Amino acid sequence: MAIDVHLHTRGGEKGDEILKAMDDIGLDRVVLFGVPPHRGQAEGEPAPADAHKRSADQLAALVAPDPGRLIGLAWIEPTLPDALDGVDYALGEKKLAGVKMIPNKWYPADERAQACYKKIDEHGKPMLFHTGILWGTSDTSQYCRPAFFEIMFHYPRIRFAMAHISWPWTDECLAVNGKFRSNQQGEPTSYIDITSGAPRIWKVDALRKALAYLGDTHLIYGSDSSLPGGAEYAALRLREDTEMLREAGASDETIERVLHSNALRWLGIE
Ligand SMILES: [Zn+2]
Repeated sequence: MAIDVHLHTRGGEKGDEILKAMDDIGLDRVVLFGVPPHRGQAEGEPAPADAHKRSADQLAALVAPDPGRLIGLAWIEPTLPDALDGVDYALGEKKLAGVKMIPNKWYPADERAQACYKKIDEHGKPMLFHTGILWGTSDTSQYCRPAFFEIMFHYPRIRFAMAHISWPWTDECLAVNGKFRSNQQGEPTSYIDITSGAPRIWKVDALRKALAYLGDTHLIYGSDSSLPGGAEYAALRLREDTEMLREAGASDETIERVLHSNALRWLGIE
């Protein structure tokens, strides 16, 4: 059984239907991101004052049928005025498991983002960042370069994951994780979410290098799909990523770690 740490939600999904799809695919647990609080905002339009609360409420209701298997990461957009309250509300009152962010038109060291990290650090919860090329039609990838995430050295209680192996900057991603690894005491504080983005020829290469350089305790698996609608794609990703790990030289034990036990450690589940 695997854990998929990278699933998007659109609002309107039902927890029970997600659980059913998980059983069909062979997923033990899934990590679900809240709806982006700024979704639907035209550029320059003010977001509703309770944008984060709405997103967190929706996500908390979605995971309620089985919070052990459905794990919610609140989507926080630090540039919105209610971001800080949103962190406390999501992680405190709503007991969501952590935070997801995409640096977009702000850098990871942005003061507004750091104010959020400070709170997340106090809550001691994990984070997942989009890293690497950011799709769309604007000049957004520059904000997601791996070296910028060294800012997380200042927030040592946050176990953070860098999604997509930061493709195309996979080497930079591995180097940054190597730096965190060389400073870690005990368990890793930095993780690499191997969710696709990188075409296979790069991905297998990056996985081989990651395993050789970092060992097998930093990698976690995600599909970048959604459930139940994207179940077929989620199942395909799980099959293909298992194949790619094998091609990269991973043993059964390593595959188990990448698909399962590393994610438990990242999430703080014993
Ligand atoms: Zn994604």
